[in-house]
Amino acid sequence: MKKLLVANRGEIAIRVMQTAKRLGIKTVAVYSEIDRHSPHVSFADEAICIGKSPSNESYLRGEHILEEAKSLNVDAIHPGYGFLSENADFAELTEQSGLTFIGPKSEAIKVMGSKLAAKDAVKAYDIPMVPGIDEAITDVDKAKRIADDIGYPILIKASAGGGGKGMRVVEEAEDLESQMNRAISEATSAFGDGSVFIEKYIASPRHIEIQVMADSHGNVLHLFERECSVQRRHQKVVEEAPSAVLSPELREEMGQAAIKVAKACDYLGAGTVEFLLDENSNFYFLEMNTRLQVEHPVTELITGLDLVELQILVAKGEALPIKQSDLRIKGHALELRVYAEDPLNDFLPSVGHLDVYKLPQGKGIRVDNGFEQGMDIPIYYDPMLSKLITYGETRQEALALMKKAIKNYHVKGVKTTLDFGYFVCNHDAFTSGKFDTHFVKKYYDTELIISEQKKEAEIAAMIALKQYIEDQNILRLPNQ
Ligand code: ADP
Repeated sequence: MKKLLVANRGEIAIRVMQTAKRLGIKTVAVYSEIDRHSPHVSFADEAICIGKSPSNESYLRGEHILEEAKSLNVDAIHPGYGFLSENADFAELTEQSGLTFIGPKSEAIKVMGSKLAAKDAVKAYDIPMVPGIDEAITDVDKAKRIADDIGYPILIKASAGGGGKGMRVVEEAEDLESQMNRAISEATSAFGDGSVFIEKYIASPRHIEIQVMADSHGNVLHLFERECSVQRRHQKVVEEAPSAVLSPELREEMGQAAIKVAKACDYLGAGTVEFLLDENSNFYFLEMNTRLQVEHPVTELITGLDLVELQILVAKGEALPIKQSDLRIKGHALELRVYAEDPLNDFLPSVGHLDVYKLPQGKGIRVDNGFEQGMDIPIYYDPMLSKLITYGETRQEALALMKKAIKNYHVKGVKTTLDFGYFVCNHDAFTSGKFDTHFVKKYYDTELIISEQKKEAEIAAMIALKQYIEDQNILRLPNQ
């Protein structure tokens, strides 16, 4: 592999190119018109404009990107996450063009891209599943009978769903029909596929996922878990590894289940098998994500591995250089997704101009970042600015460092999830490890953030006043 094109933007494009450069592979960035001056463009050895700002006119133009790649003599494509990363047709087209797709084979992407097909594929492997049905349902009477059997509350889910969209909780039978009709029409408009199914709604689950890595020689490893229970709108904001609640036995059991899921779809490369863990330590398979995950850095920090390097290695057909018995968890890592969103206004996107943008630095702090001071945040894409990651010998140490790093991360011009991250790291439920996916609903109170901001503003005003008085004294000195 001599030249790699990253079919993505922002922090993940830079993250992938960093490893490629370290391995001596030339890098090619792609960009839309609005991203012309983005850091991922200047970071690459070469860069090419692939179209207008909306993603369907640029980052989603698979065939066009492949044409450009061929004209630049690129020999491999890394899709990052989002955009084309879970598009089976793009993976297939890449291979047909004689280029290497850094990811699994298209068949595995196809199977795992549909929650129903995924359930079907792992059925024979003795993987615990959330009680529910494994086929699409349109008949309301049938749905009612199934929901009665499972017991309320139930969850209606879109088979093609992703990003926390297309899910509806139904508390009682009389709401089933209306919620089902809504779910079907939402799924049709969001994913072009109206298939929905029913699952038991697990009351207080934790979201625990296992990182897997597979080569083409039959080796499949699990790289332990990540806990991603702090979510808003069913989407992750704070992640950590290891989880505060897994025993070594349960970790191994979930790790082995994840390996079975990977084997069920003849997996290749880096993947994530997601589970829900209930209050009684029962775990249930949720879905598999067939790409590098946003939160992969916490796994890198506790294992000492570079996941992109391993992806490249297995994509070249090499065998994994490590065995399961070589792997150990060392230390603790936390990640906060720094989104340009307003945590005081329902986490709505807060795009605008980055008047001030200064990143924290220091031992144990990693920032995977895609922005610079003076830039505008485009409205066209996901509003994630960066990922702030901290690492310590213990969870406590990583937490203390995260709070310090948040205070040293300076952003002016847009609202961000930084203050929200501080709130989480300061909250007893989080620090004690006793939380679930309802953390935000249960504990989050915007008033607490507002009072913290007021306190800080008062301290800043006092410091400014003290400085002013000192300056006045110095100025008066010559006359005394
Ligand atoms: P998506 O593909 O949209 O991300 P997932 O199936 O991965 O959807 O679920 C996302 C989140 O939704 C989970 O982390 C969890 O918080 C919640 N969730 C999903 N299924 C259930 C369930 N059966 N019971 C309770 N919560 C669920």
